[in-house]
Amino acid sequence: MSGLKPARRWQPAFFPFKKEKPLRRLTAKIELAVKGPLFGCRMCGNCLLQETAFICPMECPKGMRNGPCGGITPEKNCYVDTTRKCVWYAIYKRSLKTGRVEMLLEILPPLDWNRVGTETWGEVIRQVRKTGTGKFLGAVVSGNKQNKSVVWDSVFKTIRQPDWWKGDSEYHPPSFAEPVSEFERKLRNGDFVVATEVTPPISSDITRLTKDIELVAPFVTAINFTDSSSARPKMSSMSCSIIAKNMGAEPVLQIAARDTSRSGLQSDIVGLNANGIYNVLCITGDSPKIGPAPVASMNLLDLDSVQMLWILRRMRDEGIYLDGRNIKKPPKLFLGAATSPFASEPELQAIKDHKKINAGAQFFQTNLIFEPDRLDPWLEQLDKRNLLEKIFILIGVAPLKSLKVAEYLNEYVPGVIIPENVMQRMRKAGEGAPEEGVKIALEVIDKMKSKKGVNGIHIMTLGWESIVQRIVAESGL
Ligand code: SF4
Repeated sequence: MSGLKPARRWQPAFFPFKKEKPLRRLTAKIELAVKGPLFGCRMCGNCLLQETAFICPMECPKGMRNGPCGGITPEKNCYVDTTRKCVWYAIYKRSLKTGRVEMLLEILPPLDWNRVGTETWGEVIRQVRKTGTGKFLGAVVSGNKQNKSVVWDSVFKTIRQPDWWKGDSEYHPPSFAEPVSEFERKLRNGDFVVATEVTPPISSDITRLTKDIELVAPFVTAINFTDSSSARPKMSSMSCSIIAKNMGAEPVLQIAARDTSRSGLQSDIVGLNANGIYNVLCITGDSPKIGPAPVASMNLLDLDSVQMLWILRRMRDEGIYLDGRNIKKPPKLFLGAATSPFASEPELQAIKDHKKINAGAQFFQTNLIFEPDRLDPWLEQLDKRNLLEKIFILIGVAPLKSLKVAEYLNEYVPGVIIPENVMQRMRKAGEGAPEEGVKIALEVIDKMKSKKGVNGIHIMTLGWESIVQRIVAESGL
């Protein structure tokens, strides 16, 4: 974090892959000596400091460049390294304080690894020359705000938004009129939709998987398959989705940025579309830190979920790959994202959600909710930003099967908060814990049915697929 803030931790700087010319090496050294201690700069070579309130976002272990993940701890620390503040929380707070909040909405690109570790000051000088040094300096010292912003953007926006990305802060409605799936059709129709998830198997034996799909399919509109949740390898969401599709069910494919790359994402989507998979939920994914040993790299992902949405939306609506090649038959996609309404203050969470919607999210699946009333301030913030008519929201609900499950979720799953009154009910229930868990889930669903902006529920079964039928029946859905 910036040297101007307390409790800083300055991660090591990146280095270029190839040997740069002496002058560039020298500039890079001077740049690091200045920007390092001041802003926490890691020399990503793709500088975004102006958009991130002059705190380097690359200090985030997940390399998030478009806002916080859903894992901030209640103390606002990073869940990957709980000994320090979440860098994105600090960025949001400082942006609020300095009136820079709207700058947080611009969709920022992933790293261009050809530039990582190299200086950006030379690039700024080159762009200033292109604009005209006199014109640039004149605009900077002039009192004309509009002129200053245009000239400023001609230098800095050109650098941070290369032609292959073209990120902005605008909402882009989908370019097609017809729904691409039954899931989308029902949501557009105004139905209160029920989706669920089936836990992928840990071996290639699909007996249990197909049984579970058959068990839940008649009672829900769509079935999610998690993508190695909690960073634990299982059968891939892609395989499970294809199996479900071939069985006549409607899958929601989940893709975690943690296990994908920009080329892998695009190839997979084209291939999966050819197999009839149209609903895609883009998530950043849990850090390997919460997965089993040996722990994989905890530093820096190739993409974050906002970037995944932006790439897929452009593939669909503009018919182009990230490298600019045209796609003759663009993929059909109904794009979704996960959100964690209680991860931070509702006002801050709404900024991140706004960005996901601008990037391309058409539906949200929330983290598990056990306090329905606590959701209202978040929904109000989305409403204030006129987002409720641009997104379908499905609330995450889970029947707690035991006290142990409740304790695990509360303690280890980022963004899940189980209030003390719910924990007490589960404790008191003893052997009747599964029954109490179902009762709690039904109470949550009941309150959700009448909330403005809520379009359905997403039942997270946590391996208890046989309970879906009962929950759907008893909740009157
Ligand atoms: S990993 Fe998540 S919690 Fe940690 S700094 Fe990054 S955004 Fe914040």
